[in-house]
Amino acid sequence: MGRYYQKEIETMPVEEIRKLQSVKLVKQVKHVYENVPYYRGLMDKKGVRPEDVHGIEDLRKLPFLSKSDLRETYPYGMLAVPISDCVRIHSTSGTTGKRVIAYYTQHDVDLWEECCARAIVAAGGTRDDVLQVAYGYGLFTGGAGLHGGSHKVGCLTLPMSSGNTERQIQFMMDLKSTIICCTPSYAAYIGESLKEQGYKPEDNSLKAGIFGAEPWTEEMRRDIEKSLGIKAYDIYGLTETSGPGVAFECEEQNGMHINEDHFIAEIIDPDTGEVLPEGSKGELVFTSLDKQAFPLLRYRTRDICVLSREKCSCGRTFVRMAKPMGRSDDMLIIRGVNVFPSQVETVLLAEGYAPNYRIEIDRVNNTDTFDVFVELLPEQLADTPEGVIQREKALAAAVTTMVGIRPAVHLVPPKTIARSEGKAVRVTDKRKLHD
Ligand code: ADP
Ligand code: ZN
Repeated sequence: MGRYYQKEIETMPVEEIRKLQSVKLVKQVKHVYENVPYYRGLMDKKGVRPEDVHGIEDLRKLPFLSKSDLRETYPYGMLAVPISDCVRIHSTSGTTGKRVIAYYTQHDVDLWEECCARAIVAAGGTRDDVLQVAYGYGLFTGGAGLHGGSHKVGCLTLPMSSGNTERQIQFMMDLKSTIICCTPSYAAYIGESLKEQGYKPEDNSLKAGIFGAEPWTEEMRRDIEKSLGIKAYDIYGLTETSGPGVAFECEEQNGMHINEDHFIAEIIDPDTGEVLPEGSKGELVFTSLDKQAFPLLRYRTRDICVLSREKCSCGRTFVRMAKPMGRSDDMLIIRGVNVFPSQVETVLLAEGYAPNYRIEIDRVNNTDTFDVFVELLPEQLADTPEGVIQREKALAAAVTTMVGIRPAVHLVPPKTIARSEGKAVRVTDKRKLHD
């Protein structure tokens, strides 16, 4: 049986969660309709009034929101309370374009931090832990979210922020950090640096890591677990829904429980907007039930994943989301074939390479080129040139089996691909330059 931060809520019978969501939804729709003219406009256009929403069964009557709505209403068009009630601003990392900002009342910050506290406790965190926050601090939500959650749990919090890996490692060893939170790509980099400094996985005091903010594969999880000697937990969130902590993994490490007392999750067909039955793969949509300042209804995340209501042995009743494969806009269409960078990662790691790679797409003579750059492992440096070519061919064949088209694989010397301290940038799509 599991460890919980708020046992009664986290293990609430599904029927009760539904009732709670219904009551909160009715209230939230009214709050938004009355206070956010932009969304009121969308509802009016669709001919739906707050009185038409009696519970979660009426959710699909409501219009969707997407990133473009948030850009259109930038900066304060979604604000649902007087600005004097707000205490904090955060913003997206801008991975896919102009930044979106989010605003929080103290109540909003508290419930966000509670969600992060649930994630920390699920990963084994207690007041006896030393929790190293190596997510960036600042406008990015990663640092602030886990920092607040760590305080709520009562861990000794090390607000390291990302970067300065030498100091990161020194404090980790000197202060005996037991839990580390950062992006998975940074965790891999820290693991690599520890090894270079001569540390073995068992030399550190870490027992768990809570990693998110970017897609990462199961292969990457195993790599990090091995190099740091820990159990690695996934955490998911986006600025639009507060930040990390919307969903988190329990000790089963088999999908992330969505905090359903605060959020309703739906999976839709990204092309038609149709709500898909449970178990279907599609775009994740969130309705936030408790947020006061920035209460988005039916927000389209563009993250592609699957939900599961299968019972979890941890005792939590919250629905689980599978690891998102990436955003619909991370999907590359190369020579007409859909390719997710995470598929390439799966192959590279399964073939024994380190998670240091780069994908480059271009268009030459009207044909897409697909190049994958991967670092040779230090022990492969002694290979003959023919040996390296053989390796490249074998890797290209393995990627082809996975994604359906053949890349040109280039094995490059170790340490020549930039390491990531935050969200890794793995893809360069040069085709955009020609448009
Ligand atoms: P940006 O949209 O600019 O990247 P955010 O920092 O708000 O800004 O990032 C949220 C996005 O990060 C999510 O929509 C999702 O695509 C990605 N993400 C967050 N956590 C995870 C995770 N655990 N696995 C995969 N992707 C994640
Ligand atoms: Zn569970």
